[in-house]
Amino acid sequence: MAGLFDDDPAPRSGGSLLGDVQAAPPEPTQTPSYRVLARKYRPVLFDDLIGQEGLVRTIRNAFAMNRIAHAFMFTGVRGVGKTTTARIIARALNCVGRDGNGGPTADPCGVCANCVAILQDRHPDVIEMDAASKTGVDDVRDIIEATRFQPMMARTKVFIIDEVHMLSRHAFNALLKTLEEPPPHIKFVFATTEIRRVPVTILSRCQRFDLKRVAVETLAAHFQRVALAEKITIEPDAVDAIARAADGSVRDGLSLLDQAIALGLDRGIITADTVSGMLGLADRSMIFDLMDAIAAGDIARSLRFLDSAHDNGAEPGQIMQDLLGLAHTLSRLKSIPDLVSSKSLPELERTRGKKLADQLSIPWLGRLWQMLSKGILEIEHATDRRACADMILIRLCHVTDLPPPAELVHKLSQLSNHSSPRPAPITSPTGGFRAAIGSSGSIGADSPAAVLDAIPDPDIPAQWRIDRFEDVVALALERQDLRLYAHLRHDVRVVRFVPPVIELNLASTAPRDLAARISSLLEAGTKRRWTIALSREQGAPSLAEAEEQENARALDAAIGHPLVQAVLDTFPGSRIEAFHRPEPAPEVPRSVTDTTDNDDFDSLTNED
Ligand SMILES: [Zn+2]
Repeated sequence: MAGLFDDDPAPRSGGSLLGDVQAAPPEPTQTPSYRVLARKYRPVLFDDLIGQEGLVRTIRNAFAMNRIAHAFMFTGVRGVGKTTTARIIARALNCVGRDGNGGPTADPCGVCANCVAILQDRHPDVIEMDAASKTGVDDVRDIIEATRFQPMMARTKVFIIDEVHMLSRHAFNALLKTLEEPPPHIKFVFATTEIRRVPVTILSRCQRFDLKRVAVETLAAHFQRVALAEKITIEPDAVDAIARAADGSVRDGLSLLDQAIALGLDRGIITADTVSGMLGLADRSMIFDLMDAIAAGDIARSLRFLDSAHDNGAEPGQIMQDLLGLAHTLSRLKSIPDLVSSKSLPELERTRGKKLADQLSIPWLGRLWQMLSKGILEIEHATDRRACADMILIRLCHVTDLPPPAELVHKLSQLSNHSSPRPAPITSPTGGFRAAIGSSGSIGADSPAAVLDAIPDPDIPAQWRIDRFEDVVALALERQDLRLYAHLRHDVRVVRFVPPVIELNLASTAPRDLAARISSLLEAGTKRRWTIALSREQGAPSLAEAEEQENARALDAAIGHPLVQAVLDTFPGSRIEAFHRPEPAPEVPRSVTDTTDNDDFDSLTNED
């Protein structure tokens, strides 16, 4: 390209081709040395574009109807043909045909002065800029300045701005003004790998095209044609492997093909082995072996595989990544059976992968995925990555051959229902046992125990019936005397309870007037006199102490329960962290004296 931004790293060329690919003759300025394939086989016509049929159709229609946008935005991953398409558009806009009289055409002739100059990157009206290196407002100002002048030899000045998302905010603003009122002889073609970083004000003034990742089959066919044109023999599996590794990018794939040609040059053929060695895929079958061992829960075998992979220079984190990738592939294979016949899967995945997928369950693979994802993070932060990988493998072997926790508990629960009677504290009225093991390993169990279950008999309408000390506590709560309620629970040990006489042993933390407060509470609640006597006898534990003891007993019973034991044995290293009662005891007991609200209600609703 000529003009303002002539720092493009190297001249480009292309083959003029219809049908099979064909290399273009080298430009006169260039030495006849080896040209990289990506440059040599860069498309020069819309029909040469690989795997972008939708885009080509739309642009062809636009040219046919002479409704060509004044700004295009091409987005897509690297190497799918964004700037290549931009250059074809520049020629299509400016081609004058073999006779010099032609107008804009979707099929530029390739021989007219404009076509040749653009092909040779020396057209004064086709201006290319890489926004990655020129991000400032001054760079854009140069462009805007240039838009004020008529083209020198072309019909249309074409500004190609690559990686446009890299422009600064000021640069975008400057550009926006020109985009809002573009001079008729100006076209912009933008390309970006990160469309989300392009301001919507810019996007809204462009015709946007999303270039797709090129399908593996399409890439493989293209690379095979290029190999043929280069008179290179390459095994089909080798081409497929390159196409897969290219990850949708024609340019990346051709670069890989370049490397493979260099490696296989002396043997005259590029084999699948050469390519898999080059791509680091040689250990692919090892990953399958490793997955086999993990699925079998065979720790020794798993560690041996890791040892040998490590000796061969494999990186522990990469091995785990490969396992993760295989877990994903196997999950897809299980979910989409047709995938087995897809060319996007390597031979090994289609044969051994299918076999493994048939053996494994989706929950198993899901668990493997979770543990591996976590393991990979651990390896990243580990000081001894190798040891960390060992530990992860051991963990995987241990746990992955187990059924999911929920299933296991269900099974064990049924087992224990038949085999042994359950200890009382974790037997609930419904006979249910609930255990949940999360990553924290906490286990919860049903228990009916309720401390404040002493609800006064409802057939004494106006007064509380006090039959036991719990009734006194409930009364304090009902009266909303929370301080007294707390003292009753914590500071009072009952020595004797013979209404209307109660003998108590008070803790040193109890207030001096506690006995008096208790008797006035009782008298107010029962309309009779009570005697509160203080005793030095030990008495029964306070309610709080009793609850604590009960909880400890229930936890012991839960730990001793055969089902819980089985769960603990099955998940090595797990422990009971918390003991939950699923239904909290009712905080406020029903009261037989809750008359005030009802009275009000009655007075409102009773007609008489
Ligand atoms: Zn032309």
